[in-house]
Amino acid sequence: MFPPVMPVYARADVRFERGEGVWLWDDQGRRYLDFVAGIGVTAFGHAHPRLVASLTEQAKKLWHVSNLYTVPGQERLGKKLVDNSFADTVFFTNSGVEAWECGVKTVRKHFHAKGQPQKNRIIVIQGAFHGRTLGAISAAKSEKMVTGFGPLLDGFDQVAFGNLNEMRAAITAETAAINLEPVIGEGGIKPWSVELLQQVRKICDEFGLLLFLDEIQCGLGRTGKLWAYEYADIKPDVMCVAKAIGNGFPLGACLATADAASGMVAGVHGSTYGGNPLAMAVGETAIDMLVEPGFLGHVQKIGAALDRAAQALVERHPTVFVEQRGIGLMRGIKCAPSIVAADFVKALLADGLCTVGGGENVVRLLPPLIIEDEHIKHAMEIFDRVATKF
Ligand code: PLP
Repeated sequence: MFPPVMPVYARADVRFERGEGVWLWDDQGRRYLDFVAGIGVTAFGHAHPRLVASLTEQAKKLWHVSNLYTVPGQERLGKKLVDNSFADTVFFTNSGVEAWECGVKTVRKHFHAKGQPQKNRIIVIQGAFHGRTLGAISAAKSEKMVTGFGPLLDGFDQVAFGNLNEMRAAITAETAAINLEPVIGEGGIKPWSVELLQQVRKICDEFGLLLFLDEIQCGLGRTGKLWAYEYADIKPDVMCVAKAIGNGFPLGACLATADAASGMVAGVHGSTYGGNPLAMAVGETAIDMLVEPGFLGHVQKIGAALDRAAQALVERHPTVFVEQRGIGLMRGIKCAPSIVAADFVKALLADGLCTVGGGENVVRLLPPLIIEDEHIKHAMEIFDRVATKF
């Protein structure tokens, strides 16, 4: 019989029932250290009292009215995002990929509104991941994601990660934007260097293109800055975010400058649920907590500790791991070719540590941003135990 839940995930046979801070408990009462945070989502861990209070207080007042009406929470969270970023304006969504799609539409509509509708192609990066809608898989072009789902959407031109010559060569009179993740996430935790990001910004300025960043995984404090683009001291024109902004409540956002969003006027885009009062209540508190003095400093400090610990781990097990890389609390540990990262992730889970695989045979660590030294120590002990078995 076909299972009642469409079997599109190769799920682990673990059923979590409860979470608190950095810990999860399964239905057998077994405790796990969470170093994946729902794939970079639960930045403040599980059941954070402030987030629980915001959600429950809002749940008693009003859940949903739709975007037929002015939603005060949207105005408040929109202002917080604008005040803390490059952007002038925000559209709220329910997921990351919807925020990315809104970014694509914002870019295309910008040039349409400017009388240049032929400028509608977007340069994207091989190995990047933007989600699972037809648009996002058309951009990623990964065989596994696209096979059998055609016809795909036109308008995306891929270039290799880090190759600016190829990027320049791909620009035509139809190019509208360059879209990239400042730190590739699913693709195996690969940060663009500061110099390259600055060069990409320059290329956009030189050719009159919009810079459209995907900070769904690397944004909102994960790298130790609120936004990953801050490391390069550049500003995008459009940016999609999600994950940590809702800490597990489905919420995403597309941020843009007023100029980039010039085509996004009444009636051209929408969502029934996007920006509903429940999501806004959680999002407002999450942003307040992220920008609280000292919090991002903690992420930078503990991120450096994780970097050191992961480096020492790789050096202790040279036949198991090849290298480790990342920024802040976004770290990838690359397994030796003889080892399948997915098997290693399975073995870590069996020993009580949640991680996730990534591209290029990497084990990804995306722990809650609230971890402390003791959690890194605990995680590395499990890594050591599992490494000796491979
Ligand atoms: N973009 C990036 C960089 C992501 O990491 C993800 C999800 O992992 C997405 C887009 C898609 O987000 P969602 O799964 O919420 O649609």
